[in-house]
Amino acid sequence: MFSYSVLKQFNEISKIFVRYKNPRHHWSVQRKKIHPVDKALAHFDDFYREVFQKKWPSIREGLLGKQKYVAVVNNYGDSDETMAHLELTGALNIRRLFNLEKEYIREQVMKNERNTVLERIWKMDRESEQLSNIAPNSQVATACGETNYHKHSLQASLDSAEIDSRRIIDSKNSELSLELLNEFIPATKVKGNDDFIMESEHYKMFDATLSFQKKKECDIHFPENLNIYCYEMDNFSDFEASKTASTGVLNYYLMDGGSILPVLALDLKPDCNLLDVCAAPGGKSLLALQTLYPHCVVSNDVSMSRTHRIENVYQQFLYDFKERWLDPGRVKITCYDGRCMPFENFDRILVDVPCTTDRHSLKENDNNIFKPDRIKERLKLPELQAELLFSALKLVKKGGIVVYSTCSLSPIQNDGVINMALKKIWEETQIEIIVKDLTAALLQTHRVFELASTKLLKYGHLVIPQKGQNYGPTYFCKLQRIK
Ligand code: SAM
Repeated sequence: MFSYSVLKQFNEISKIFVRYKNPRHHWSVQRKKIHPVDKALAHFDDFYREVFQKKWPSIREGLLGKQKYVAVVNNYGDSDETMAHLELTGALNIRRLFNLEKEYIREQVMKNERNTVLERIWKMDRESEQLSNIAPNSQVATACGETNYHKHSLQASLDSAEIDSRRIIDSKNSELSLELLNEFIPATKVKGNDDFIMESEHYKMFDATLSFQKKKECDIHFPENLNIYCYEMDNFSDFEASKTASTGVLNYYLMDGGSILPVLALDLKPDCNLLDVCAAPGGKSLLALQTLYPHCVVSNDVSMSRTHRIENVYQQFLYDFKERWLDPGRVKITCYDGRCMPFENFDRILVDVPCTTDRHSLKENDNNIFKPDRIKERLKLPELQAELLFSALKLVKKGGIVVYSTCSLSPIQNDGVINMALKKIWEETQIEIIVKDLTAALLQTHRVFELASTKLLKYGHLVIPQKGQNYGPTYFCKLQRIK
């Protein structure tokens, strides 16, 4: 029998054990619990491995690794000094990089064209050499070693000769005209981009019979006033925190590099108006304003608290925001559900939808779409995304452009949503939409961004995270309303 004091002591000790056995933040407790980030990783491993196959391990490494940012120079805050400073730190101007690459591609295409022409001339020379071997007075060795002499005279041969029209070089001939050689020739001519593979397993839900028009584009316009800086491949330097310029606004805005492509794809023009349907916190709207093109940008978001974030961003970056921007209506911040907006006739519409935000879902447990209580919301995302896009296609004016974008690798949320929205447009409206194929235009971006193979995509383009170029994921698809 234990004495009372022994029992009491035992009780005290066990209390200590109980207390220290399961502290909430202890590693063993933490490790046992399956967190939303773990769920996200398991889901991506399962789904994306099948989609991206051999490429998945490197994409995965990128997603879990350090994300790269670009710095968008604020035109309202000492921009020249800012650019000079960024360049001193080794940052590179993306517009200049794209232009250099474009020039390089043009030279390569010209070289290829020249080589093709030279090859043709060389072939023709060979052919005529063979002809001249059987020409008058030439000696032809017979199989048995005898030598025959042709009986035709030179004059007789000339008289019967026909002009070989293949040797005539017409300056208007498309293959040789200087005009053509000086033009930027779409690289699709060289590469060919119509060879989409059969739709993979993941596109089973697609209406593969849906017919749609696709038009190739060879260039992306990079506005002269848009200055965006990045560090070169494999350089993971962090940008310094932005500073307050003499005008009181911050001198640059940091964002994921992939985010610039949907805005460039909008092909903004001077004096256009832009509706950003899902705008908060405002990064892409701000980028559009930095082109100095739009005369009005409507930045909408369904969440009131998030529209305040747009306002904060604008106040931080747009000089004299209220007097110069908000009051004159150059910028409007609205809070509607993007599926039913009281607007119409926009030149440009950006639909940067809520999605599984793949990178965030692997890093942050807070507000994670893979939380058990958000499962319904997650499964309903493609439906919401398609409705948002459908509504934008109705609000854009004839000739106007809609860009749909996500920060997910999911083919369902990307091409799948385009397919759903186009199907609905064709079934329920008289509107006609064409899909813009930017494959050739995007060749100029390849030193900055890693893009998924066109074989994996039917409508849009996808920036995939990779260790050295760790941007994205960013999916974007450019659509034009033609009727
Ligand atoms: N474009 C933003 C940027 O570049 O800073 C990021 C947009 S974020 C990916 C998606 C946004 O869509 C969220 O702010 C969310 O509140 C908003 N959203 C979700 N459902 C919406 C709806 N039905 N209508 C409009 N906005 C919606």
